[in-house]
Amino acid sequence: MNISCSAEKRVLEIPPKGQAIIGGFWSPENGLNSLPTVLQWKDGKVHSLEPLRITENIDAECYDWKSYYLQPGWLDAHVHLALDSLDFYQCLKNWENPNLIYKNIQAYLQTYLNLGIVAIRDGGDQPGFAWFARNRLYEGSWLGPRVISVHEAVNRKGMYGRFLGRGFDGISDWQTNIINFYTQGIDQLKVIVSGLIRFDNFRVVGPTQWTVEELQRIVLTAHQRGILVMAHASGEEGISVAIDAGVDSIEHGYYMTSEHLNKMKNQGIAWIPTVSPIGNILKYPTNRYSAKEIDTLKRILETQLAVIYEAYQKNVRIGIGTDAGAYLVPHGESLYDEMDWLIQAGIPRLEVYSMATRENARILGQNDLGRLTIHTPMNLLQLTAKYYV
Ligand SMILES: [Zn+2]
Repeated sequence: MNISCSAEKRVLEIPPKGQAIIGGFWSPENGLNSLPTVLQWKDGKVHSLEPLRITENIDAECYDWKSYYLQPGWLDAHVHLALDSLDFYQCLKNWENPNLIYKNIQAYLQTYLNLGIVAIRDGGDQPGFAWFARNRLYEGSWLGPRVISVHEAVNRKGMYGRFLGRGFDGISDWQTNIINFYTQGIDQLKVIVSGLIRFDNFRVVGPTQWTVEELQRIVLTAHQRGILVMAHASGEEGISVAIDAGVDSIEHGYYMTSEHLNKMKNQGIAWIPTVSPIGNILKYPTNRYSAKEIDTLKRILETQLAVIYEAYQKNVRIGIGTDAGAYLVPHGESLYDEMDWLIQAGIPRLEVYSMATRENARILGQNDLGRLTIHTPMNLLQLTAKYYV
């Protein structure tokens, strides 16, 4: 079996039963313990965590992991495995060659594991590449993190999201196709509520695709099946519609207002603010954008970070999702960018780590993830470099 060792950016092969000395451990429930500890595992699961005693007899088989902390594996709540972070239009052309896409996806999956990311939620692609990957992982023929997949998104035909889903010609078209849509298989439902933000025009967002009543009907079909609903929504109107329709999470949520946050707090709706697609363009300079665009991006970034801190203070549920696959948002590495952005917003590091583990597990609808207790499977944990807070 395996455990991710993000400290060395690789996966370690370990026997089902073993013992190690670790430098300490962290979990969202119990916080940080930075004392040397003896870890034992059996049947691939944590069996005991006991303080190391000076007099202890350490058997020769014991792993020396003193320079690592043990903690829950990271989770990324928003990725697109079918996108390559390099060139959106070229990538869509490459979709005509599925074998190339599958090869790319397998490499991304390995990167996720190497970096300690043990599960990801995929926000969809029209041909269903990520869904295909999800199925290879479940049957064990591919190696990688657990993938929670929306398969394809629900968007309105002729509006934003053509590469994410087939598109429905209004609510009656959706209703005709409900059975077909669900029987093709989904883990979560993704709805496209608003269009894209513009990099050259502050506060301008593409049109809203559904009325509250329409979206409520779509959301209900998922909730009746016990399926969580993630909503791509930005801008005053789009976010309001998504909240009023009772979705479970708002993805992106650029131009979120205080009023939105209050409602989300009351309704228990999570926010995945995906700072990296904006922030990384500024962090890793590129000549792709004009001075005006860079200026707008700076304003969007500043605004987003300020509202994220407000959300944190108001105790709104915040998840960590990168939108990996977007330009300059590479699969795996970008989760570290995203966590850094939230720390930069003013949220304490360990609170951000809780979001990337415990809160994300809730957003992914996966109870066994994001925790470290006795009986947690070793392959859902990771060995990180020691950190100081
Ligand atoms: Zn997305």
